[in-house]
Amino acid sequence: MTSPFEIVGACPHDCPDTCSLVTTVEGGRAVRVRGNPAHPPTAGVLCTKVSRYHERTHHPERLLTPLRRVGAKGEGRFAPIGWDEALDEVAARLAAIAARDPQGVLPYSYAGTMGLVQGESMDRRFFHRLGASLLERTICATAGGEALAHTLGGKVGMRTEFFAESQLILIWGSNSIASNLHFWRLAQQARRGGARLVCIDPRRTETADKCDEHVALRPGTDAALALAIMHELIRHDWLDHDYIARHTLGWPALRERALLWNPERAAQVCGVPAAQIVELARAYGTTRPAAIRLNYGVQRCAGGGNAVRAIACLPALTGAWRHRAGGVLLSSSGHFPVDRAALQRPGLLGARRPRAVNMVTIGDDLLRPASDGFGPRIDALVVYNSNPVAVAPESPQVVRGFAREDLFTVVLEQFHTDTVDYADIVLPATTQLEHWDIHAAYGHTDVLLNRPAIAPVGQARSNARIFRELAARMGFTESCFGDDDEQLCRQAYGAAVDWEELLANGFAHLPLPEAPFAEGDFPTPSGRCEFFSARLAAQGLDGLPDHVPNHEPPTPGRYPLAMISPPARNFLNSSFVNVRSLRSIEGQPLLEIHPRDAAARGIASGQLVRVFNQRGAYHCAAEVSERARPGVVNGLGIWWRKLGPRGTNVNELTSQKLTDLGRGPVFYDCAVEVERA
Ligand code: SF4
Repeated sequence: MTSPFEIVGACPHDCPDTCSLVTTVEGGRAVRVRGNPAHPPTAGVLCTKVSRYHERTHHPERLLTPLRRVGAKGEGRFAPIGWDEALDEVAARLAAIAARDPQGVLPYSYAGTMGLVQGESMDRRFFHRLGASLLERTICATAGGEALAHTLGGKVGMRTEFFAESQLILIWGSNSIASNLHFWRLAQQARRGGARLVCIDPRRTETADKCDEHVALRPGTDAALALAIMHELIRHDWLDHDYIARHTLGWPALRERALLWNPERAAQVCGVPAAQIVELARAYGTTRPAAIRLNYGVQRCAGGGNAVRAIACLPALTGAWRHRAGGVLLSSSGHFPVDRAALQRPGLLGARRPRAVNMVTIGDDLLRPASDGFGPRIDALVVYNSNPVAVAPESPQVVRGFAREDLFTVVLEQFHTDTVDYADIVLPATTQLEHWDIHAAYGHTDVLLNRPAIAPVGQARSNARIFRELAARMGFTESCFGDDDEQLCRQAYGAAVDWEELLANGFAHLPLPEAPFAEGDFPTPSGRCEFFSARLAAQGLDGLPDHVPNHEPPTPGRYPLAMISPPARNFLNSSFVNVRSLRSIEGQPLLEIHPRDAAARGIASGQLVRVFNQRGAYHCAAEVSERARPGVVNGLGIWWRKLGPRGTNVNELTSQKLTDLGRGPVFYDCAVEVERA
């Protein structure tokens, strides 16, 4: 037996922290995974979920061979088949559909891995060459992403490490302790240096518990709060007039808009005391340096894009950007020079311009017949890095779509998820410990390389290999289909990042200024922070940020409660729900409900409740708790449907409506009623 050795890799999960992992291998098995102490953002620490990643890789329920369905759709009964048989069948079925119209084939993938190779390289080449429908990958971040693009010029912001030097941090829409752990360490460091931490979140999260103040606003009212802060900045002249004059666009118009939002008006909308808004604005206007850590929860309502735009304007008003510990950060991913054209080869489309299907509306779209407006019916679905039956909104409709007997569904997966239950062919996929990959991050600015630590478990193959082999069977002879996974890693950044440094250390820092917008230089068309966006106005939209009311305000007598569905602490979207040790910490699917709302319905903690609206009903246990604010319930997600009571999860209730910008989902804009089951 060879002696134990260590391999440096990267955490693949959809988390801003993108940790550097050190895996210990013994006798061909991964026996330990720990945080890399040499990587500054990781600092030797992993979250509970990933510190047992080796257990996940060698989990007894891993899918180890290709499978063919033998039961009805949804039953989840399969028989093992060989790889050749599986790939031949997939290629033949896709080729037959493509011969009619390749747009009848739809890929469906998201951030099951954040790796650039296993997430967005050979798969995209394959579907581009085929001419398949394009997928609008909107399910998480596009409202905020578009908002940042129209305000700051892209997914850019202050450098994460300098939050440690801030004197005031607004943690806005982020449960950092649960989902941005390494940022929380920096916030603690700042606090030791005298910083005040304010959590702005409808839910009293673990993070809110530990901050100096909690502003528990109603879901979907963040823009109103930001505009009222601006109102106070103007009224007290806590403005950096020089920064505004030299580095912003549209100030007179924004000033006029903000003056409509006095704290009393915002207090009515947000459901928080006007005095708290005044005090928050005073702290923000008079503390230097002040920083905002924004997260994606804010943008999951009808006006999510406007909310992010309003918040992203704040640091330019006070000149916070002048200091390296001031500004705002939602995502740092726009700083990374990823060569997506090299990875994805859009040129393989030639002159074809396939339709794009929004992944948020997959439920409706799977059930749509062919039409002039929609194009051909979706006849085949290839799902990878995603579990749409559990995570897509309005699951009753999603399930109806996946249950279509005439839909050919292929799922690349590591585990037997809710989506696998509806597959015709299942192809076993490798985990991060078994394949090459390379990463950007959205919560720091280091590139990470992931080297395989062990050989693939069972007959699992990497996503890139599976699409390479499908391409060969489809007769795609372009040389780019011959690139192996390591070559794809090299192509992701080309010469922009030193490959030898990545091989030696596992990570490389991007060369970025400490205070990227101290002198303006925003990557917008004007080079300024665009309070007014001419690009939005040209689309017939409001060029200024404003409060946009929710699609579904609670309605007394019908659906009087607003529901949000933040992640349960030990799950990451629907990943890890099948890890028994993590599931046992979570216990069971929970709905947090405020004592006042619970008392009005005769509900006690631990009771099974029925949460319902016009789309469906979801059963789970009630937790009577002040973590929920009055009038808002928190359905913690995202449980696998089959592991919850009565086979449903919280997405039974969410809608397929879209955000104001970016065509994103509105998971937190959902009115419900609750009763004892
Ligand atoms: S904190 Fe985030 S990046 Fe780090 S190991 Fe956990 S899930 Fe992965």
